[in-house]
Amino acid sequence: MSTPFRAVAIDGPAASGKSTVAKRLADSLGLIMVNSGAMYRAVTWQILQEGVDPSDPAAVVTALTDMEIIGGVEDGLSTITINDRLLSEELRLPAVNQNVSKVAAVPEVRECLVAMQRAYLEDNDLVMEGRDIGSVVFPETPFKIYIDASEEVRAARRSKDGEADAVAARDQQDSQRKTSPLVIPDGATVIDSSDLTIEETVKATCQALLARGWED
Ligand code: C5P
Repeated sequence: MSTPFRAVAIDGPAASGKSTVAKRLADSLGLIMVNSGAMYRAVTWQILQEGVDPSDPAAVVTALTDMEIIGGVEDGLSTITINDRLLSEELRLPAVNQNVSKVAAVPEVRECLVAMQRAYLEDNDLVMEGRDIGSVVFPETPFKIYIDASEEVRAARRSKDGEADAVAARDQQDSQRKTSPLVIPDGATVIDSSDLTIEETVKATCQALLARGWED
């Protein structure tokens, strides 16, 4: 992809702290922050709204064909609109948590959303967080970070957020799917945030970027 803009790719399992770190990093470097998980959640929410079975890939693909999905940016953060509805709180519903990994395993869904994700880099330097950003979406970027945390720490963080979310089950599905599974991208810096504060994790991330040649 030819673009003058730079992508910071932040991958990691559910509730590893990557969204918070990505947001802080984007703010401090003056970049936009793109939450790719919100896109998979948005398609899942729409599928559930339509009464389509998220476990039926063919039905998911048919429903996807009729969706008008628009990615935007507001206040430095990515937004997602489906069929004219701007989605936000809906994306964290338990039903979405439970079904998003099934929908995200459908290759046609990934193809559609990866194209939207890449389009953000046509106009902006950005931080993008997800599961396959360093491995598939922007494999050529030198700025790849993988944020990890132990399963116990991640489950505790999610329940502290007040969310019913079986993170271990979601990670298992995300790591085992055939298309673009969750992996540590080649050449990524791995940061284990289990025993780190957010500030310490952001600092370690900034240091890794500087070591890789990031310049303001
Ligand atoms: O990041 P978040 O936990 O909100 O992502 C929700 C789900 O979206 C993940 O569990 C995964 O199934 C899917 N996802 C993905 N690829 C990405 C981002 C998210 O498959 N780049």
